Amino acid sequence: MKPQIRNELEKILKDYSSHSSEIKDVLNYFLEHETLEKEHIIKILKLKKDDKERKIVFTFANSVRKLYTGDYINIKGVIEFSNYCKKNCFYCGLRAKNSSIRRYRMSPTEIINVAKQAADYGLDTIILQSGEDDSYSEDDLIFIISEIRKNTKLPVSVSIGERSFSAYRKFRKAGAVRVLLKHETINKTLFRKIHPDKNYENRIELLRYMNTLGYVTGSGNIIGLPGQTLDDIADDILFMRDEKIKMIGMGPFIPAHNTPLEKFPSGSGELTLNAYAATRLCIPKAQMPTTTALGTISEDLQYQGFFAGCNVIMVNITPDKYRENYNIYDNKIKVEYFYSYNKLRELGFSPSKITQKKLKEML
Ligand code: SAH
Ligand code: SF4
Repeated sequence: MKPQIRNELEKILKDYSSHSSEIKDVLNYFLEHETLEKEHIIKILKLKKDDKERKIVFTFANSVRKLYTGDYINIKGVIEFSNYCKKNCFYCGLRAKNSSIRRYRMSPTEIINVAKQAADYGLDTIILQSGEDDSYSEDDLIFIISEIRKNTKLPVSVSIGERSFSAYRKFRKAGAVRVLLKHETINKTLFRKIHPDKNYENRIELLRYMNTLGYVTGSGNIIGLPGQTLDDIADDILFMRDEKIKMIGMGPFIPAHNTPLEKFPSGSGELTLNAYAATRLCIPKAQMPTTTALGTISEDLQYQGFFAGCNVIMVNITPDKYRENYNIYDNKIKVEYFYSYNKLRELGFSPSKITQKKLKEML
């Protein structure tokens, strides 16, 4: 650890020295090892909303975020280009068997135009997300990725589920530099219960392969799945550390109607914040969004994510006529770019640039 970072973090610990606490041991472990182990993560996950120690951990995580990743919050634009899906994940409203949603597909030209507009507005990254929809061939996706790269120069991320190993190799060549494929839960028994057709081993092998291809690899888990324990969540975080995952998407489970899990309660927002803080201390350089799923529980919780160690927000740039049908869960909010930008400034963070063109349009 750089001496300057160490000094800063030791200062925080000193400021709180009147609290004798187990948590101090956890933070001292971080100072020695720049990561945490399972027992430490579980201690953080167990913290209650009003615990004094939670405030210390969040302050510490926020400082680690600043010291390791810079004082800059990335704003990434998500284009949800198709809500068709051939899979049947128990929690997801887009599952193939859900006949109650209106399906849509955006054409390659529409997708490319939205990406161009997003670049004009000053967004950092374009994330292409969809259900698993084979009606877009590999060549279609290669075309879309390379056109966006050519026209915008922005990094392109793909979040489209389990394509073949060779497809991911081709997407990388076409200019995709990031990939998001959540492992969802590392508890194999739980994974199999809720994924009749997502393949646990294949997803993990794909993530490993993507790392070898030079992708900035993203994964993540759902918090509050029925039957999940704190132990499972700690294992999720350690898995991502050990597999050198660089982007970490962790959101609470939100029930979606017409799915097998529709009657189960949402995951806890407070636990999700604890998981953000624990992850920041376990994987200090992570790119970690405070998620739309958390914002769907409450906007306040989503912004608290930045004070618990998050450094990314994903804003929705899907055209509204499509977006309202991208219901992976109920009441999914729209995270709007300009609003998020202003809110981040208000809270004292440094968000990604916004262009004069966008500013003019907003005035
Ligand atoms: N089809 C692709 C990408 C789109 S789904 C895939 O599955 O990889 C993106 C993410 O939405 C999933 O990885 C899952 O973690 C999340 N998701 C789906 N339904 C959800 C729900 N009900 N609550 C919380 N997250 C959900
Ligand atoms: Fe399809 Fe992804 Fe939803 Fe599973 S989580 S049903 S793969 S969109």
